[in-house]
Amino acid sequence: MLQTKIFLSSPHMSGREQKYIEEAFDLNWIAPLGNNVDQFEYELANYNTIAGASVLTSGTAAIHLALRLTEVTSADKVFCSSLTFVATANPILYQGAEPVFIDSEPETWNMSPFALQRAFNDAEANGELPKAVIVVNLYGQSAKMDEILEICDQYGVPVIEDAAESLGSEFKGQKSGTFGTFGVYSFNGNKIITTSGGGALVSNDLEALGKSRFLATQARDKALHYQHSTVGYNYRMSNIVAGIGRAQLEVLDERVKQRREVFKRYYDAFKEQIGFAFMPEMEGTKSNRWLTALTVDPEKVGVSHLDIIEALAEEYIDARPIWKPLHLQPLFTNNTYYPIEKGYSFSDELYKYGLCLPSGSNMTNEQQDKVIKTIKKCIN
Ligand SMILES: *Cc1c(COP(=O)(O)O)cnc(C)c1O
Repeated sequence: MLQTKIFLSSPHMSGREQKYIEEAFDLNWIAPLGNNVDQFEYELANYNTIAGASVLTSGTAAIHLALRLTEVTSADKVFCSSLTFVATANPILYQGAEPVFIDSEPETWNMSPFALQRAFNDAEANGELPKAVIVVNLYGQSAKMDEILEICDQYGVPVIEDAAESLGSEFKGQKSGTFGTFGVYSFNGNKIITTSGGGALVSNDLEALGKSRFLATQARDKALHYQHSTVGYNYRMSNIVAGIGRAQLEVLDERVKQRREVFKRYYDAFKEQIGFAFMPEMEGTKSNRWLTALTVDPEKVGVSHLDIIEALAEEYIDARPIWKPLHLQPLFTNNTYYPIEKGYSFSDELYKYGLCLPSGSNMTNEQQDKVIKTIKKCIN
C-alpha cells in the first residue's frame, strides 16, 4: 500500500456513480442532453444557491462561453488574475482579445484590489476599459470579492469568477462562483469532484445561460433545416458524464471536510517550523483547501521548496511548485502586467518559494504521515 504513488489530487469516487450511468443506459440516453444533464444542472445550481447552471465539456469551455456572452472580441482587453493555471487566460486568446494581468495580494494570494484599481485608472485615462474581469479563487481560497466587485461595478465591467478550484468554498457564507455575472466550475480529474472531464457555467441570468446552451450546441437557429447565423461550439456535457457528476455532487461537502482535514494535519505537523508559511484563509471565508499550499523560505529552513519536491519525488510522492504566474509565461511576454506595487510583484514571490502538497480526499493517514516524515527528513 505504502509503495503506491501518492498523487497531488486524484479522483475519489463515491460508489454511486454507476447507478446514474446505468439509468442513462437503461433509457438509452447516451447522447448529450438527457435526464442526468438536466438534473445535474438543477442540483448544481441548487447547491450553490444560484438561478441556473449549464454543464459543459470543461471549465475552459465555460470560461470561453462567459467571454462570448460578455461580447469580448478582438478589439477588447480583459483583466485577469496572473497567479493561475493557463486555462483561465487561454479563452481570452480564443476570442483574439488582449489579456492584462493583475497581481495577487498576501491575505488571499488572489487578485489585489490595489493593482486592479491601478489597471482601471490607466484604462480609464486611455479611454479603453476592459470588457470583462476574470477573478480566480486559487487552491479554493476566495479572492477579496467585496473590493473587487465594488471596483468593477463602479466601471460597469462584468466579473467572471473562475471558481474551477473553489467549488464548495464560501465567502461570507455565500458559495464561491456565485459572485460575478458568471461563475465557472471544473470537474477535471484533479479537481475536488470530478466527472473525468467537464465543467459548468453558472449565473443568475437565465437568459444568458439559455444562450450559452445554444452556443454550446453549434448555435443552431430555430429551423427544421440546419441553419446557423453565428459561430457555435460543441461544448455540451454528455448524459453519461453528467451521471458521474450527480453522484460526485452528493459527496462534495464530505470532500470539502476531508480536504480541510488534510490541510489541518499538515498544518499541525509544521506550524512550529520557522520559514514555512501556509496559504492563509481570510477571515469571513471558508476554503475547500483543494490543495494545501505553503511557502518555504530557504534561508530559514535550510532547503528550498524544490529540494522538498525532489525529496518527495524520490519516495514516489507528487508535489508541485505553485502555478507559474501568467505574466512570466513565454506565451504572454508581450502582455501588460500590474504588480501590487510598482517594482514589486507578490505573485513572483509566491512562485519563487511556493509549494503544493498532495491533498487528495482519498489519501490515507499513513500516506500523509509518509509525506510529513519525508519532508521532516529533508529539512533536518
Ligand atoms: C482546472 C482549471 C481550469 C480549467 O478547467 P478544465 O475543466 O480543466 O478545462 C481553469 N481555471 C483554473 C484555475 C483551473 O484550476
